[in-house]
Amino acid sequence: MLSADFLRLDEEVDMVNNSMADWFHLDIMDGVFVPNLSFGLPVVKAISSMAVKPLDVHLMIVQPERYITAFRDAGADILSVHYEASTHLHRTLQAIRQAGMKAGIVLNPHSPVHLLNDIVGEADMVLLMSVNPGFGGQQFIPHILNKIKELKELALRINPALLIEVDGGVNRDNAAQLCHAGADVLVAGNAVFKSSEPAEEIRLLKTILD
Ligand code: ZN
Repeated sequence: MLSADFLRLDEEVDMVNNSMADWFHLDIMDGVFVPNLSFGLPVVKAISSMAVKPLDVHLMIVQPERYITAFRDAGADILSVHYEASTHLHRTLQAIRQAGMKAGIVLNPHSPVHLLNDIVGEADMVLLMSVNPGFGGQQFIPHILNKIKELKELALRINPALLIEVDGGVNRDNAAQLCHAGADVLVAGNAVFKSSEPAEEIRLLKTILD
């Protein structure tokens, strides 16, 4: 939703509601963990009040454990925190699940997959960043394909139900490659919202996946 037009947020939410998209992906930035600021709880609540699909909330903030219940109350269904921002990640993931949400771990492009060896069993999803977090509209980093394959192998050994999500620079040109490598969930921002026919773009992306 970071790429949506916030002056027409109701229409943008409606478009996603009526499209083939499965989830809403919300990027929360604090200006500390990442250089940029995005939006906070009131906007999450506003989207939640209209959304008829799950809210997948990606926290790009320091000390994310401070806001677990606040995001649950605002309507989050899936809450993902950065490995790089969580000193006590095991406890944070447990707290997210205890609050009634699915728990996700996010890895920045520079963080190796093997960091997750001892924690992947505690997560419902791992989100691999395919750009450096903080801005929409960036170029996709191709090394992500190796990381998806490595994570898929780890998941098959330890947590076969784990969902693998990819975020950043996803479009029609790389969606098939990402899925073949093992991605289950693709986040598309600019590819959808900067298109003249966003719902059709979502349909095309979904068709690539099927
Ligand atoms: Zn995101």
